[in-house]
Amino acid sequence: MSGIYIHVPFCKQKCTYCDFASYPRELCKAESYFACLYREIDGRSKQFPGRVIDTIYIGGGTPSVVDAKFIAGAIRQVKKCFHVRETAEITIEINPGTVDEQKIKEYKSVGINRFSIGLQTGFDDQLKKLNRIHTAKDFLTCCNLLKGENISADVLIGLHDQTLEQVKKTVDLAIAGGVSHISVYALTPEVGTPIYTDYLNGELLSDDETADIYDGVREYLKAKGFDRYEVSNFCKQGFRSRHNMNYWKRGEYIGVGVSASSFMNDKRFTNTFSIDEYMNAVIYNKSPEISNDLIEEKDARFEVIMLALRTTDGLNVKEFNKKFGIDFDTEYKTQLLKKGKYLLRDGDNLKIKDEYLYVQNDILLEFM
Ligand code: SF4
Repeated sequence: MSGIYIHVPFCKQKCTYCDFASYPRELCKAESYFACLYREIDGRSKQFPGRVIDTIYIGGGTPSVVDAKFIAGAIRQVKKCFHVRETAEITIEINPGTVDEQKIKEYKSVGINRFSIGLQTGFDDQLKKLNRIHTAKDFLTCCNLLKGENISADVLIGLHDQTLEQVKKTVDLAIAGGVSHISVYALTPEVGTPIYTDYLNGELLSDDETADIYDGVREYLKAKGFDRYEVSNFCKQGFRSRHNMNYWKRGEYIGVGVSASSFMNDKRFTNTFSIDEYMNAVIYNKSPEISNDLIEEKDARFEVIMLALRTTDGLNVKEFNKKFGIDFDTEYKTQLLKKGKYLLRDGDNLKIKDEYLYVQNDILLEFM
């Protein structure tokens, strides 16, 4: 299975916690950027001929901030250059306040069938503090436009003075909007972002407080019929993100656009984070990549373990042994003994016990 990720690096304004490749002041470059993107898609299809595409994911930035004709053009270009399955999952990230009926109609006309909305919190004062462009009401308006569609919502935990009750209310709002998938991410104060100062001033929740909220919201989501299938992802039955499942299964994917990463033929490569550098490279038939690494076998093994153990499906030890021609239990005997109390073994299946999934990093580091 292969996926395609398309990066749209434009936003209306910068959120206080954001360190993604998103450039609010560069929106005027959208038309030329997409022209380059179409060209890169064509180039990548020639570089990797014969790939069958199962999922397309348009992320950002805020893809919904640009004219829908650019998005439609990108999807058409992927379909023209690659063999995209009829049943492909095609997701677009959207922010409330940036879509209308006409945009949604255009998205659907090219086959977009999954909508991931950046809600973050259902409280307007918190949204304002994060410099989000929308209100809780805008979220519901957006959901109304998408009635009956496959919708996901992103929720942030660990905000200033946030309580579990507030997160539950945010989940209620998402459910009222008709979502079938919810991603719950812990706020990570990255160096260089405005919120990092708040972090240094001790204004954000501590890791322990955030972990308590996570546990509480996990139980709440379960009671509401949303099962966890990956550390940050919860859904109703049948609504897992196929695109992300491919990442966690260490499947191949092609990323196009600024900052996009690809994983093909055991190589991981990433494009430049600069819009101008990206466009210059594509226009002059040069590679927009800033790194291109062949993944060595020991790193590949760790990646497979790490990605699988993030999910509730866990690791299939038999498949692992077959893929790498080793015996997992012998190779990782020490690690299994040391971290055994956090792990659950059932025949060929190995996973992290439910109650420890959120603190998986400590466990995974052992396998590095
Ligand atoms: S909308 Fe997303 S990508 Fe854009 S600034 Fe906010 S967090 Fe960053």
